[in-house]
Amino acid sequence: MHHPENDEHYKGLAVNKGIPQPPSVNPRLKRKKRVRVQPSGYYVEGILKGNVTVLSQAITLVESNSPAHYQIAQEIIEKCLPYSDKSLRLGITGVPGVGKSTFIEAMGLHLTQQGEKLAVLAIDPSSERSKGSILGDKTRMEKLSQEDNAYIRPSPSAGTLGGVARKTRETIILCEAAGFQNIFIETVGVGQSETAVHSMVDFFLLLMLAGAGDELQGIKRGIMEMADAITINKADGNNIHKAKLARIGYQNALHLFPPTPSGWEPKVVTCSAYENTGIPEIWNMIKEYRELAKENGYFTHRRQDQAKYWMYESINEQLKGDFYHHPDIKNVLEATEADVLNEKTSSFVAAKQLLDTYFDALKK
Ligand code: GDP
Repeated sequence: MHHPENDEHYKGLAVNKGIPQPPSVNPRLKRKKRVRVQPSGYYVEGILKGNVTVLSQAITLVESNSPAHYQIAQEIIEKCLPYSDKSLRLGITGVPGVGKSTFIEAMGLHLTQQGEKLAVLAIDPSSERSKGSILGDKTRMEKLSQEDNAYIRPSPSAGTLGGVARKTRETIILCEAAGFQNIFIETVGVGQSETAVHSMVDFFLLLMLAGAGDELQGIKRGIMEMADAITINKADGNNIHKAKLARIGYQNALHLFPPTPSGWEPKVVTCSAYENTGIPEIWNMIKEYRELAKENGYFTHRRQDQAKYWMYESINEQLKGDFYHHPDIKNVLEATEADVLNEKTSSFVAAKQLLDTYFDALKK
């Protein structure tokens, strides 16, 4: 099959051009949009019936930064939690251009053809910084988005990576309760978001290209070490041979890593998301992992570890948020920072002063 990327002059890491967003006519309009909030029972009932509209409304509450919405969202999550244990959470990462959307679409369609339901979520902390997201600004997964059994939700955009990750983690729970028992979480391979995704999935899949070089792909050793499998994508046309060689190379590299606590030996496979080859095999591999990890107890262990991790993460996030939003801190933060820059105060003394101010204010 011909694909422009099979041309030998094609540069594999090129990214599609994004669809330019039109300038906002009235930027305040967005902020004014109100979410009409119902009692939590309304959402829980709708979600458990698999009502996607209600699911989306509930996710909007999870993503909202209003304390009232947060309260309701927590009630909904609490009631949805018992429905999580049958799901499979798959994390997918790789640099822009490696073929994540194409892969997810191919894999997603493979699943829906078997009557499976899946939700596709994303963590893209770039969407806040650049005001346009790496993952979101393309026309993505057009076929999959038309499937009744697939639910695609873009990355929550506001906040720190920790905040975005928390929202995605909570969204997973709602999707699972709505009957989407396969959850794909996509992230861009350019920073720390992989660690966040790794800490919320059962299986972590790293997509790579043949011959592009680890450096070029921005893949750190640590990320390779987290992977339960590496998939060399675009194994088609002139690229097939290179992909096979790369597979052997990476497989050898993985052998050098210490054995994983799951008893699973990370695999390296090839596929062509574009030509749809290797996709069923990858799905079978993931199922094989699930079987092994369920049998030896690692599956539950990993989820428990993650639940613990997120408890502490959530404490950290909330303390930090509370501290920086406190009016007494807001009043003095800039001046204290200036003192540090002018060397009037040391960083440590300044930090201590700010924390004292905060804790004193709490006592009032
Ligand atoms: P993402 O940025 O990682 O989500 O990558 P995309 O899925 O948008 O793919 C980037 C480009 O690579 C697009 O032009 C795709 O058509 C192309 N592509 C994706 N998968 C394959 C593949 O398996 N083989 C070939 N030849 N091209 C692919």
